[in-house]
Amino acid sequence: MAGSWEAIKSSFDTALTAAGLVAAGERAAFALCRPPGHHAGTAFMGGYCYLNNAAIAAQWFRDRGAGRVTILDIDYHHGNGTQEIFYARADVQVINLHGDPLTEYPHFLGHRDERGAGPGEGFNLNYPLPAGTDWAGWSAALDDALARIAAYAPDILVVSLGVDTFEKDPISAFRLRSHDYPHIGARIAGLDLPTLFVMEGGYAVAEIGVNAVGVLTGFEGA
Ligand SMILES: [Zn+2]
Repeated sequence: MAGSWEAIKSSFDTALTAAGLVAAGERAAFALCRPPGHHAGTAFMGGYCYLNNAAIAAQWFRDRGAGRVTILDIDYHHGNGTQEIFYARADVQVINLHGDPLTEYPHFLGHRDERGAGPGEGFNLNYPLPAGTDWAGWSAALDDALARIAAYAPDILVVSLGVDTFEKDPISAFRLRSHDYPHIGARIAGLDLPTLFVMEGGYAVAEIGVNAVGVLTGFEGA
């Protein structure tokens, strides 16, 4: 594991550098984090994730005065670490769109009835979707999620950006196509919030860049 810590630290440093740009007034920034983070919780790692880059950035914004932060996780897999970290908190809303955990990793979290606990009740929202979900079904869930975010009215939006929702992703079962990704960015831009994109998963190696850039260009052009 020589070198792992250096990589892990560089990854969350990347997220914090991008968070700093947003805090300084940039409309958006993209943190190309490797390793990813959303399966890492307060005391566990998983799914190639060691420390939760998006959660670290969200807490960084809170520590610097943001009253409310939303993390929107659009990776194919449920962000179980992010959910666990903020599950009992109302100051960080966590919303996940993902493959149904009955059949997909991480299997034990991500069900619709997990809605937060204690003061966090109602501030954790899950949209588990069936294998084969295409743009029509996925974007309908996204639109519902965006309405929930607008109602919450956060100061900052952190997007856990996975592109393993792609139709040719080798380990996933959604059916998004490359031309769908700019529309994701444009719809997220419609929230008109300072936005930090943090890279999560994506395993169709040739298309990861195309699809991630698609989201960003869609956001930028909206
Ligand atoms: Zn994933």
